[in-house]
Amino acid sequence: MCEGAKVSHEADRWWCRDLASLGARSENVMSYVAIARKWRPTRFEDIVGQGHVTRTLQNAIRLERVHHAFLFTGARGVGKTTCARVLARALNCEAGDGATPDPCGTCGSCSEIASGSASDVIEIDGASNNSVDDIRDLRDSVRYLPQRGRRKIYIVDEVHMLSRGAFNALLKTLEEPPAHVVFIFATTEPHKIPDTILSRVQRFDFKRIPMVTVVERLQKVCEGEGLKISEGGLRLIARAGEGSMRDSQSLLDRIASFAGDAATTEQVAEVLGLVDRALLYDMLEGVVRGEADRCLDAIDRVDAYGFDLSEFTSEMLELIRNATLVGLSPGSKRHVDVPEDELDRLIALAKDVSSDVLVRSFHVMLEVHEQVARAPRPRMVLEMAVARLVSIRPARGMDQLLERVELLQRRVLHQVGSGARLGRSSPANESEGDSQAPPRAISAPQNVASPPVESASVLSFRRGPLRKRAATAAATAPAPESAPAAIHFQRGPLKRASAELRPEAVLTEPIEFARRELIEAPRTDAPSAEQLEAEVDFERRGLLEAPAPAPPPDPSESNLPIPQFEGIPVSVAAATAEPEVLIPPMPLPATATMEQRLEALLAYLERGGARFDALALDTAFAGASAPAIRLVCPSEFKLRVTRSVQDHERVKLGLSTLLPEYSRLELQLRSGDGPPRTRREEARLAREARIRELTNAVTTRPLHQQFLDRFGARLGAVVPADEPPPLPTQSR
Ligand SMILES: [Zn+2]
Repeated sequence: MCEGAKVSHEADRWWCRDLASLGARSENVMSYVAIARKWRPTRFEDIVGQGHVTRTLQNAIRLERVHHAFLFTGARGVGKTTCARVLARALNCEAGDGATPDPCGTCGSCSEIASGSASDVIEIDGASNNSVDDIRDLRDSVRYLPQRGRRKIYIVDEVHMLSRGAFNALLKTLEEPPAHVVFIFATTEPHKIPDTILSRVQRFDFKRIPMVTVVERLQKVCEGEGLKISEGGLRLIARAGEGSMRDSQSLLDRIASFAGDAATTEQVAEVLGLVDRALLYDMLEGVVRGEADRCLDAIDRVDAYGFDLSEFTSEMLELIRNATLVGLSPGSKRHVDVPEDELDRLIALAKDVSSDVLVRSFHVMLEVHEQVARAPRPRMVLEMAVARLVSIRPARGMDQLLERVELLQRRVLHQVGSGARLGRSSPANESEGDSQAPPRAISAPQNVASPPVESASVLSFRRGPLRKRAATAAATAPAPESAPAAIHFQRGPLKRASAELRPEAVLTEPIEFARRELIEAPRTDAPSAEQLEAEVDFERRGLLEAPAPAPPPDPSESNLPIPQFEGIPVSVAAATAEPEVLIPPMPLPATATMEQRLEALLAYLERGGARFDALALDTAFAGASAPAIRLVCPSEFKLRVTRSVQDHERVKLGLSTLLPEYSRLELQLRSGDGPPRTRREEARLAREARIRELTNAVTTRPLHQQFLDRFGARLGAVVPADEPPPLPTQSR
C-alpha cells in the first residue's frame, strides 16, 4: 500500500527493532543510542520551548477540531518532527475511544510510533522525494485506509524541497483529502512554500529554544545519563547549539564520548573548539587596563591553540557587549546570558572602566573582526589593533576640569560670603545670604523680603543686575588687596564702575553672584589694584531670575545708560513665586522718556515670574495712543500666552505707576519678522554681534594667533565670558 512513498529513517527502524529484540540486554546497548533520540519527547508536555504550538494542538484534539494539514516551520532541531510524531501518537493512541491530548505511550500504536515501525505513520523526506512521480505515489497511497489506527499520518520533512510540479500534484489531495488522512509538513524555509499550499494548511511557527531552556533540558538529560558536566560547560553547549535542542544534544553526545562521565567547562570548550573563556577575559582586561603585554600574550595563546581568530574576535565582541551592558544599570544584567561566576567577573570589570572605553573598544574590535576574515595573516590585524585598544582612555579630562571649576567657584563664593558677613550687624539676615551654599543652592530671595532701600550695614544677597562694586569690600572688609585682587574674574560690561564706588550706591545695591568661567580676560594694559577691585563682581544673574528693574535715574546721573538686559535669562518658576502682595515698581522721575518707562515696565513684569516672560521678552512696542499701549508679538503662540496675562494685576499696577496715562495693553500679531524687534530678539542679535566682535578680536590679534599656534589649538565656539558656563549636570 505505501510502497510508493519512500520511507525515511529506515535504518532507525531496524535499529530500534533490533533493540527491542535484545530484551534484557537492551539496557546496555541503549547507552549507545544517540542522546537526541533517546531523550526525544514522547508527550506534548515534554516538548520544551514550544508551548504556543503544543497547547493549541492539544486544544484542537480535545475539541475534535483537528485540521487535516499542518505546516510546522522553524529552525532545525527545535522540535518540529518530534511534535509531528507526538501528534501522530495523540491521533492514533489506542488507550481511549478517540484522539487524546495525552497519548498513553504504552499501547501498541504509541510504541510502534516511538520505534518508528508504525505502518500508519509515513515519514517522507521531501529533499529526496521531491519529484512529481513521488507525489503521485503518495497520492495513490493516501486512498487506502489505515491498517491499524484511526488515521494515516504523512509527515513530510523539508517540504520546501518539493518541485513546483510536485507541489501542484499535492494540491488536489490537499484540497479534498480523505477523512482518515492527516498531513504534517515541516520546513525550515516556509517562504519557499507556494501560497496555494500555505492557504490550505494550518501553520505553526516553532521558536528557537531559549538558552536557559536548553540548559535546563541538558541538565535533566545529564542527570538521567549520569553525566557530570559543569553548568558553564552546558551553557557553552547550548550556545553552540544556537537554540536547537537536537544540535545541543548531539554536542552533549560528543562531549560524553570524548570526556567520559564528567567534563569541566574548559574540557567542553576544548571539545567544541571554542575559545577558552579565560583567554577572552585576559584580552579584555588587558584592553581596559591598557596592558598591551597581556593582550599580545592572549593572542599568542589563541593562535598557538589553533583557535579561529575570527571566532575569537566574535567572542570578544560579545564579551565587550556584555561588560558594557552590566555596567549600564543594575537591571541591565538580565540581558547578559552568562553563568553566575562570569557575571561577577564582568561586573567587577565594568566597575573599573567607563562605558565610553568599552564602547570605543567595541567599535575597534568590530573593525578587526571584519578585517580578520579577509586578511591573509589575521593575527597581525589583531596585534595591530592592540595598539589602538590599549590607548583608549576614558575621556575624563573635561569632567575633571569642570569639577575643578565648580570647586573653585564654591571657594570663591565662600570667601566673599565670609567677607560680606563681617559687615553685617543683624544676624537675622544670616540665613538670607548664606553664601557658603553652592551657587545652585542659593535660595531665591523673596521679593517681599527686600525693601528697595536697606540699612547701611546690611548687605543682602538679592538677585538683580545691580552690581556690587569693590567699594563694598573697601567699606567693610579689612584688607583692600585681599581676595578680590588675587583672581580676576572676567565679567560682563563694566558699567558705571566709577559712579558706583560711592558708598550710597553700595548701600542700595545688592550683591550679585555669578557662576561663570574662571577665565582671565586678556588685557593689554595692566589695571591698577583699585581698578581690579572695582571690577570684581560676582554675579549670578540669569541663573535664577531676570534682572531687576532699573533704579530710578538720579537727575544728576541722567546721562548714564539704563542698564541693558543682556543674554536670555533662565527663569525658574519655583524661584519666583508670586508674592501675596504686589509691590509696585519704583516710580520714574518726570524727565524719564517713554522708552525708559516702557523698559522699566517690561522689566517689572519680567520680575513677576515665568508667566510674564512672553509679555516681557517676546513683545515689541508698536505705538501708543492713550489709554492703550500697542505691543506686537512675533507668533500666534506667544500672542496667546501674552494675552493670558495682559489684564493681570501686575500689568495694571505697573502701568499706573510707570505710565499713568495708559491703562491697558493692546496685543497684536506682528506681520512677518521685521521690526519692531522684541527684547528677546534684540538680546539675541546683540549677543551674536558680540560674539562676532569677540571672534574678530581673537582671530586678528597677533598675540592670540601666537598662542593658538604655540599650542596647536583651533578656535572653537566663542562664548561671552559673562554667560554662565555650561556646567556638568551632576546631582550632588
Ligand atoms: Zn497509546
